[in-house]
Amino acid sequence: MADITEVFGSNVFNDRIMKERLPKETYKTLRKTVENGAPLTVELANVVANAMKDWAIEKGATHYTHWFQPLTGKTAEKHDSFIAPGPDGSVVMEFSGKQLIQGEPDASSFPSGGLRATFEARGYTAWDCTSSAFLKTDDAGNVTLTIPTAFCSYTGEALDKKTPLLRSMEAVSKQAIRVLRALGNKTTSRVAATVGPEQEYFLIDKEYFDKRLDLITCGRTLFGAPAPKGQELEDQYFGAIKDRVSKFMKDLDTELWKMGVSAKTKHNEVAPAQFEMAPIFSTTNIAADHNQLVMESLQKVALRHGLVCLLHEKPYAGINGSGKHNNWSLATDDGANLLEPGHTPHENEQFLVFLSAVIGAVDRHADKLRAGAANPGNDLRLGANEAPPAIISIFMGEELTDILTTLAAGKKAHSKGQHYLSIGVDSLPALPKDNTDRNRTSPFAFTGNKFEFRMVASSASISGPNTILNTIVAEALDQIATRLEKAKDVNKEAAAIIRETVKEHGRVIFNGNNYSEDWVKEAKKRGLPNISSTVEALGYMANESAIKLFSKYKVLSKEELHSRHEIYLEQYAKHINIEAQTAIEMVNRLYIPAVICYSAELAETVGKLKAAGTTPTVQKELLERISELLGAANKKLAKLETETLKAQGIADVHVRAEAYRDRVFPAQADLRKSIDALEQIIPSCVWPVPTYSEMLFKL
Ligand code: ADP
Ligand code: MG
Repeated sequence: MADITEVFGSNVFNDRIMKERLPKETYKTLRKTVENGAPLTVELANVVANAMKDWAIEKGATHYTHWFQPLTGKTAEKHDSFIAPGPDGSVVMEFSGKQLIQGEPDASSFPSGGLRATFEARGYTAWDCTSSAFLKTDDAGNVTLTIPTAFCSYTGEALDKKTPLLRSMEAVSKQAIRVLRALGNKTTSRVAATVGPEQEYFLIDKEYFDKRLDLITCGRTLFGAPAPKGQELEDQYFGAIKDRVSKFMKDLDTELWKMGVSAKTKHNEVAPAQFEMAPIFSTTNIAADHNQLVMESLQKVALRHGLVCLLHEKPYAGINGSGKHNNWSLATDDGANLLEPGHTPHENEQFLVFLSAVIGAVDRHADKLRAGAANPGNDLRLGANEAPPAIISIFMGEELTDILTTLAAGKKAHSKGQHYLSIGVDSLPALPKDNTDRNRTSPFAFTGNKFEFRMVASSASISGPNTILNTIVAEALDQIATRLEKAKDVNKEAAAIIRETVKEHGRVIFNGNNYSEDWVKEAKKRGLPNISSTVEALGYMANESAIKLFSKYKVLSKEELHSRHEIYLEQYAKHINIEAQTAIEMVNRLYIPAVICYSAELAETVGKLKAAGTTPTVQKELLERISELLGAANKKLAKLETETLKAQGIADVHVRAEAYRDRVFPAQADLRKSIDALEQIIPSCVWPVPTYSEMLFKL
């Protein structure tokens, strides 16, 4: 195999290449833009564009694209070749600074929620120079220079997922710096939110996939009786990876490494045919771009191996679904992790202040975080099986919880690691590293030097949840900075902040089993929100509290929030509508005909046996049971058809989304019960689609 260090980043126009290929001055100015957001001139862009083009063409590129992330949660690209008319009917290869900086895709068909009337048509893409351009290749031999961009309207409103994310990174950096300054730090000039998203997914043999309309149109099975074996033996988790899958993973790693995605970890997950990959963490923006590439590559590479990758949150009922564990922290430009407990009381005070900010933020805005993880797939996952429940709480670990509660009581706190002495001002103890045990049931767990937000949906962009996380923490840091800046004794004030945080927001800390019924009751007593559906959750991103918060930090305006709310509700309704239509088609055209055929055969057998003078008791009973279930299925099908038609006719998007949630979705789930019951008694040779056993275990 080729040297990984050479493969890695070979298709990226990264810092090293820029240093090599750009004039020194241009390179320096560009770095300033990347690091401090200094404005970018067309002259500079011209030089960069030319170098980019030469590099890309040398590597076989013929086209370039502005790559952006509309509100569909996917990525979008429109390819333009480099050709321009040359002398005497020839062509030359061109790429100007203007073409690099700005694009005008005629992208009028993307959801804009009223921010951009269709007749205005154009949205604009703007080069995001903080995320490196790279080459995308495909099996057809196309090489495309891919330029990460933000996508906005003519009036500058965000039409994508990247713009608010970039804005939220600014906000959290600015407020974190204020806190650091107030605590005496003079060296740090930027703070970046860092993210390492672990991606879970399923693989299925393409032959089975192609036979399941539900997987094709919805990404999940709408029907299917459970297999006799599930995940109960826990023999799949971290198990030896099968050769076929291993070949796929190897190919995936290489594909990702070329594009500079630092694929690091791969393993079997808990459910049969479920897997996980994790990259090395990076700044949020790059992590979000890279996660999109991970999702895209998973699907692309799987096909090469006769497999299909399912990114849906709950492809199969009754076994684990998939999520994204969003590991999040704050890093300074001089190399410190602000959520690293540290060894000296000074670092410690800083750590506890930042920890307090996160605790306060999560408790104040749990509803928004929940909304950030909401999508139709996650409605099936949150609260079921392995998934964290819909209640947001923080796992802090016993030792840190002890320290925090002791400090809150105004007493001297000691950490357990004996060799750390408690000598800080106001009794802040030195904290040992790795002081948290693991709690796999918590939706928001402190894992030693970062928080792991585990609710995030496996198929969704991570931009949404991280935009929310960055902004709510920015607000908490803003409030803390204001207090510290005014304080006469900063250490005393810091201690007071920590104390008050624990008193006011300690209710959000929970170290127990999040999957237990008792926790649901306890959380209710503590006044923590338990938001069970996407439709409800989305509302919390468009209410007064959300508007106040996101507009204050210039992350999302009232109009942008409203438009997003509308778009996401619309998407939810459409999604459930597609599921309903798929279920209706499968029942009408696959299941019912198969059952009728088999019943006819049975009836014939009964007749023949009677004629031969025997009593066909078993055959008759089976026929009766099948007819009964078929009758029930038919009734339920009619109900689903009526409810779907009714929902489709509702004009108001909010009422419509509710109808899909409360009437269409349950009707479909009910229909499933009868079909699954039929599956369990009909011979496999006449069943028209692959079963759970086949899809999950024949890989
Ligand atoms: P586990 O499954 O045990 O939670 P993994 O190794 O699968 O752990 O994933 C942990 C993820 O957290 C990796 O992507 C890793 O790069 C990331 N991570 C580690 N440190 C930080 C940090 N300071 N900020 C953000 N992410 C981090
Ligand atoms: Mg993991």
